Amino acid sequence: MDLVIRKSRLQGREGSWDIGIQGDRIAAVAERLEDQGTEEIEAAGRLVAPTYVNGHVHLDKCNLGDIMRPNQTYSFRECLEITWEHKRTYTIEDIVERASKAIREGILHGTTVFRVFADVDTIGGLRPLEGILALKAKWQGIVHIEAVDFPQEAILRDPGTKDLMEEGMRMGADVVGGLPWHEHLDEDVRAHIDFCFELAKKYDKDLHMLVDDTSNPNSRSLEYLAVKTMRENYHGRVSASHCEALASYDEMHAHKVMDLVKNAEVSICCNPHISLALIGRHDQEPIRRGITRVRQLWGKEVNLFSSQDDVNDPYYPFGRNDQQEVAAYLCHAAHMTFPKEIEAVFDFITVNAARALRLQNYGLTPGCRADLNVLAAPTFQHTLRLQQPPVWVIRSGKLLAQNILTRELHMG
Ligand SMILES: [Zn+2]
Repeated sequence: MDLVIRKSRLQGREGSWDIGIQGDRIAAVAERLEDQGTEEIEAAGRLVAPTYVNGHVHLDKCNLGDIMRPNQTYSFRECLEITWEHKRTYTIEDIVERASKAIREGILHGTTVFRVFADVDTIGGLRPLEGILALKAKWQGIVHIEAVDFPQEAILRDPGTKDLMEEGMRMGADVVGGLPWHEHLDEDVRAHIDFCFELAKKYDKDLHMLVDDTSNPNSRSLEYLAVKTMRENYHGRVSASHCEALASYDEMHAHKVMDLVKNAEVSICCNPHISLALIGRHDQEPIRRGITRVRQLWGKEVNLFSSQDDVNDPYYPFGRNDQQEVAAYLCHAAHMTFPKEIEAVFDFITVNAARALRLQNYGLTPGCRADLNVLAAPTFQHTLRLQQPPVWVIRSGKLLAQNILTRELHMG
């Protein structure tokens, strides 16, 4: 064996486990591996898990927070406008530099897969996507980056975007994005979704849309997206982020929509940081919690995952590309604090996210890619409680990052 991790704990399994790695694959998982590894890591009872998957993050606009004017309202409109002030003059180098900072932070926090949204519209043209494709090339072989061809200004209300999106797919985008709820009319919402499906089918790609990203219960693009997914036989190939409006529908309609989502096998992505910060901001008390119906969707066994979304950008002043922090926020925002629920949230940043992105060979069984975090604590509950980064981050069987935490208590 090239590498053996000794005495690890694994989610859902009793006891202590050794993990043997050969090349870039997990070769064996056993209570005691006799083979000596060329290198060995003593997990010493820490939890070992597949590296985290951030399935929704905007890295073309990340770290604009360092140079932009302050946000005065945090309205969606102003968040867009501040971005315009920079998007018009982005350079590829500038995007790669700002985004690489976020990728480095992500790796140190145990994430090796990033689905990166790149704005494609008549303001920035294809420059943001060119930047993200350059980012992908720069990090090739180190982390997995997917580029989403994303119409941040919507499609029908931004004439010219259709051609740009088509060109984006020709340039090598991996996923067709969408922002249907931002159109003016319900019929435009549907035309928007229809266009995205045409593009996805033409290039045989998956779809990931930002859906009903508002507390307005009249925003109802999710039901059409689910039905369209079924009609196009795209089961399991569509993700919908946000869906906060679902939380404001009446119970009867909400259950109808959630059942459609389940039947269409649409994955739902909840990004708790941004939903907590922006949704319900103009409510009078009681102020809505902001996130979608996470516990109900979980109860219906919808594939749920959870992501960072924003890193120091016009929409959100914080964010460190940390999926453990995302999980902790979600546990709080969705009231998921029972042991089973905390374990479920662990899946939201690991296996469920991998399922949404249709990653191959993801997991902890022999044959899977050796992309592993040796976490700082023996359970996920304590990992979230302590909010310490993984001690070791292993990618393709090799050490990619290490966090050495030095703390001293000086007792008087
Ligand atoms: Zn987003």
